[in-house]
Amino acid sequence: MKTDLLVTGAAGLVGHALRQRNLSDTEFVTREHADLTEFGSTSTMFSLLKPRRVIHLAAVVGGLGGNMIHSGEYFRNNIMMNLNVLEAARLAGVEKLISFMSTCVFPDRCQYPLNEAHLHNGPPHPSNFGYAYAKRMLEVQSAAYRNEWNCNYIVAIPTNIYGPNDNFSLTDGHVIPSLIHRCHLAKQRGEDLVLWGSGKPLREFILSDDVARLTLWLLDNYNEDQPIILSSGIEVSIMELAETLADVMEFKGRLIFDTTKPDGQLRKPSDTAKLKRYLPDFEFTPLRQGLEQTVEWFLSNYPKVRGA
Ligand code: GDP
Repeated sequence: MKTDLLVTGAAGLVGHALRQRNLSDTEFVTREHADLTEFGSTSTMFSLLKPRRVIHLAAVVGGLGGNMIHSGEYFRNNIMMNLNVLEAARLAGVEKLISFMSTCVFPDRCQYPLNEAHLHNGPPHPSNFGYAYAKRMLEVQSAAYRNEWNCNYIVAIPTNIYGPNDNFSLTDGHVIPSLIHRCHLAKQRGEDLVLWGSGKPLREFILSDDVARLTLWLLDNYNEDQPIILSSGIEVSIMELAETLADVMEFKGRLIFDTTKPDGQLRKPSDTAKLKRYLPDFEFTPLRQGLEQTVEWFLSNYPKVRGA
């Protein structure tokens, strides 16, 4: 059997967004189909499906909380999955593969805006070093494979992704899904909404459907060995995010900032020049509109959502 496109990590955020796009001749695989941390399981799947192209989304990810508690697990599982998937793809003769990092893997102390060329210029923020070092090796492995075996493996670096089918865990999730879940509970219980940190950190958010659209474009058109950052470049404070979300969810209680909880990195603005050069007219979904879609999905699926 030959497959045009294989998507790993298909049960996650971007996998879910790709499924909505009705792609032909595409296999969406999850941990039920193969254990990507085991090479035997990974290569058996590749020999069976014989994909021409691969979108490698599978990863162990979490928000600030998850990263701080599970640094060993995040390091091991991510590095094993990446090593196995890229090697199995090479052996199976895959023509093109795209994999993903995140802007949180950049050096903690580096010049802003974050630029693709500065990825390895210093250690990552201590709150996510296990995840960050494992993810940085994706770029190293892709470049090494390109050098020796001419593999057309490209790497994208999206900013903070959110959207339908996220992990809505109250402790391990990213800020948007955690807050949606917590706001929902606070509304039901008539309580205040408690947020972590000072509300001052700035982040750039990207809707999973925007990542899916960009991914399909990159797969057809991008062939550079250097990674490419995927972001609108619009920074939003956690305070502003919480206020917009409270408005979308019609939450009337107070927003309380628990400053005993960590802020993480204060900001990580990204350089969007390369993406703009390739796609000057790409329309990013505005944050409010993306939040409305995500909240609607959460409310119609709750409590059968990941992390609940
Ligand atoms: P990251 O810090 O960019 O890896 O992503 P997160 O989504 O985990 O956190 C972003 C920011 O949101 C940090 O400054 C957190 O302090 C803040 N934040 C506020 N409330 C929450 C929450 O309930 N969960 C998480 N994960 N972050 C929160």
